[in-house]
Amino acid sequence: MRARVLVLHTGGTIGMAAAADGLRPMAGFGAVLEQHLAAQAAALPALDIVELDQLIDSANLRPAHWRTIAEALLARWERHDGFVVLHGTDTMAWTASALSFMLRGTDKPVILTGAQIPLLAPRSDAPANLHGALALATGTPVREVGVYFHHRLLRGNRSSKLKSTAFDAFDSPNYPPLAELGIELALHRERLLPAAARDFIVPAFDADAVAVLTMHPGLSSHVAAAVADTPALRGLVLRSYGAGNVADAEPALMAALARAVARGVVVVNVTQCTYGGVRQGAYATGAALSRIGVVAAGDMTLEAAFAKLHVLLARHADPATVRAQFAQPLCGELS
Ligand code: ASP
Repeated sequence: MRARVLVLHTGGTIGMAAAADGLRPMAGFGAVLEQHLAAQAAALPALDIVELDQLIDSANLRPAHWRTIAEALLARWERHDGFVVLHGTDTMAWTASALSFMLRGTDKPVILTGAQIPLLAPRSDAPANLHGALALATGTPVREVGVYFHHRLLRGNRSSKLKSTAFDAFDSPNYPPLAELGIELALHRERLLPAAARDFIVPAFDADAVAVLTMHPGLSSHVAAAVADTPALRGLVLRSYGAGNVADAEPALMAALARAVARGVVVVNVTQCTYGGVRQGAYATGAALSRIGVVAAGDMTLEAAFAKLHVLLARHADPATVRAQFAQPLCGELS
């Protein structure tokens, strides 16, 4: 039987065209895509192309879109052998991370891709990304959510967009690529997630539930308190320095964080460094966070920590459960 792949178009540069004020998602991109792929139909799996009702520049992505995307995949799950999600690059790593936590134990490949230049523009990187993603979406042992970009398959929840103008926009600083696609496919089987039981959950997200606070020299305790004391807040991602350090000599800042933890906000600590992770006891300025109950995010990316917190908070009412699960590797996001 010929394999069947669902291509879900959500928006992003790949399907954009110039408007008076810059690039915007174009109407009718599904038909353009169909025509583009028709030329090589014989060499491709059978394809179904679906577009979201509202195509977005992924800068406009909200956590509710994660649910829309996951539901669109799950509604067609049994009919397809693999999935390619076309997505804007700006928040692709965030969506890939969220999908990985919603589709734990996936029994099919879910490959996100996009482009830095629209498919219909000269010198577009879209054809290579699209065809690479299609090649990985069937006939390989990949059973996880990946980001395919510029000849490499990265684990979705390890990926970050690191370059705004280069074709190799994405990298996976703390985990090596799962595959490289040259003339031949070099798949690193030993790096893939082992098979696991399906644990699919597509929760309703509350965008107000999670915020990100970046440590910087002179971070105002008023700003930190304004964020930490927000009534709807249930999770806070603190972006610390280096091995996980913050200004522990600022009592009002530490008090704002401690107050949040005490009222049940799950505060997690990711490093601002691209490589490596948080070792919260390495310095006294990090140990101070352990004392007030901040959870170290190890070598998780910001995107993975944020999405994991959102999914866990949408799934569990009890902060203790969220804290415990956050600290565990759930689907390859944490070493
Ligand atoms: N702003 C675009 C988006 O994220 C950028 C891209 O797709 O490359 O939708």
